[in-house]
Amino acid sequence: MKKKHIVAMTIICTVAAGCGQKTAETPEPKKEVVPAIELSNMDTEINPAEDFFRFVNNEWLKNNPIPEEYSTYGAFTEIDQHNELLIQDIIDEVSQDTTAQQGSVAQKIRDFYNAGMDTVAIDERGYSELMPYFEMIDNLNDKTQLAELLGKLHSEGIGGFFGAGGSPDPKNAEMVIMHLYQGGLSLTDRDDYLVEESQEMRDKYVEHVAKMFELTGTEPEAAADKAKRILALETKLATNSMTRVERRDPDKTYNMRTLVELQKTTPNFDWNTYFKNAGAPMIESLNVGMPDFMAAMDKIILNTDLNTLKDYLRWKVIHGSASMLSSDLDAENFSFYGNYLYGQEVQQPRWRRILDATSGCLGEAIGQLYVEKHFPAEAKERMLNLVGNLRIALGERIKNLDWMSEETKAKALVKLDAFNVKIGYPDKWKDYSKYEVTPDSYFENVHRAIRFENEREMAKIGKPVDKEEWFMTPQTVNAYYSPEMNEIVFPAAILQPPFFNMDADDAVNYGGIGVVIGHEMTHGFDDQGCKYDEKGNLNNWWTEEDAAKFAERTQQLVKLFDEFNVRGYQINGQLTLGENIADLGGLNVAWDAYQMTDEAKANQSIDGYTPAQRFFISYGTIWRNNSRDKYIERQVKTDVHSPAEARVNRTLGSMPHFYEAFDIPEGTNMYIAPEERATIW
Ligand SMILES: [Zn+2]
Repeated sequence: MKKKHIVAMTIICTVAAGCGQKTAETPEPKKEVVPAIELSNMDTEINPAEDFFRFVNNEWLKNNPIPEEYSTYGAFTEIDQHNELLIQDIIDEVSQDTTAQQGSVAQKIRDFYNAGMDTVAIDERGYSELMPYFEMIDNLNDKTQLAELLGKLHSEGIGGFFGAGGSPDPKNAEMVIMHLYQGGLSLTDRDDYLVEESQEMRDKYVEHVAKMFELTGTEPEAAADKAKRILALETKLATNSMTRVERRDPDKTYNMRTLVELQKTTPNFDWNTYFKNAGAPMIESLNVGMPDFMAAMDKIILNTDLNTLKDYLRWKVIHGSASMLSSDLDAENFSFYGNYLYGQEVQQPRWRRILDATSGCLGEAIGQLYVEKHFPAEAKERMLNLVGNLRIALGERIKNLDWMSEETKAKALVKLDAFNVKIGYPDKWKDYSKYEVTPDSYFENVHRAIRFENEREMAKIGKPVDKEEWFMTPQTVNAYYSPEMNEIVFPAAILQPPFFNMDADDAVNYGGIGVVIGHEMTHGFDDQGCKYDEKGNLNNWWTEEDAAKFAERTQQLVKLFDEFNVRGYQINGQLTLGENIADLGGLNVAWDAYQMTDEAKANQSIDGYTPAQRFFISYGTIWRNNSRDKYIERQVKTDVHSPAEARVNRTLGSMPHFYEAFDIPEGTNMYIAPEERATIW
């Protein structure tokens, strides 16, 4: 379980779905020169016009079956694995340093990791560390005390009913304000509670909840009864929750209210008490992401008996802590969430999970050591150059759009010009001096980290946005665009092959990291990003006519993805729209930027492939991925990113230069008739 604090209302558009899972294999850190294109991964027996994804990756797919401790395995996971070895080295070095001063970063990393690995002590404690929380819940005598209790639990990272946190005001992106958002569910999506086809999942969930209660001291019969009532309560919350597609509309989730107004719509929940106990500063107004949900929650609390509310909170304590407790609870938690939901056969080895947790709680402390050793200064320079070229290319594309008025174009260019770019690592590192880590309790170390983060987050509310802050650590293999900061961010860890290869030809780098850069830039102009202006404010800068044309074009992309399935799992074109716009835009922008290079002008083939072909092969390579059916099933329901295969085989169908590069004839699988292709940016 990730315990990292996430500013839930900040929309961060990443290039990939989260990949926090690790493998037991311990490949040697790669130091050799990596070929620009690994020809042995391709399968030239496969016609690129029929299945480009497998033409590029089939041998890799065959030679890289999903390790049993993974549910999905691809280029992102490969780098992640490699990175873990580097981080493990850093931690090993730090762990052996017995002279590390008390309070130093080295001492914190060492003690956090070692306490997490001490399964003997953890097993001995069982669930005893939950007792103070159970006591707090037992002491709840009537519902008026719920606000106080919930505030305390939330400040400890224990969920329930809703979430609260600070992030920029979408209409005044210079300032951090308080946001409230729906929450309280324990399955992966509201539909899991509501649709017929998820009945088996709900049955298994009830069994799992009951089992977790049994493991924490409840008699089987009472445990089964609690589990059923918890499902019923969560189902009511789910019924009143916005769907993932609805939540993608930032206008719908922006609802400023004074505290007095909020209180009127939720008369049974005392917000002042809640905020005080959650560690929030005094506030007069806030953004209520889902006002209908809040009003419904108030009534649900009113109409639910006190014992069920207490059981629900007790469940949230157990559920949120499972990975920090004894092996019986940890294993039961994995068997439902890892094995049943995602098809992962065995759990990741403990060292990887603790490494991950250390990287979660002390992310920038490790990040600082990581970049000192593993991030060459030349990489940053090369990236800045690439970003500069991509920016020029996107600017030219905007100027040449045949469907947009000059008026809107001018505003789009202002926004593009204002993009802030962050590469590698933050200029200013997070200060962990107030975070105390001790060698004796893993559970306490994690909880202190949560409290430390909660305090840090709450302290931001009512203050100007810190523009230097990063929302990913340097060792994260990913990238993001933040509409409220109007910035694109590329952590050091993604600047490695197959995304970025210092020894590769430009075609390969533009088809890899170039597309990733273009992807993040395009997020500034996707169906969400386009609603924010150059300052990060939710502020419509489009003429009505252009907005209508944009919507029409994006609906074409929705249709193309709605029609596409991966192994029978239907993609939701609306849910994945922003990412699909970004992929298509990223390809086009990176292509244009590549055309400006000397290498593209020279047009010399390498390994028997033209530069244009190498550009697309590189794009196909970054999405090489094997996933279990269950993973794909969850992904199409919950992830804004389309499955990797679709990101290649569907997106390329709307990319004109792909047709030229591989001579794609009508009637093949990859072919989309010109009038049906999506052309947006
Ligand atoms: Zn994205």
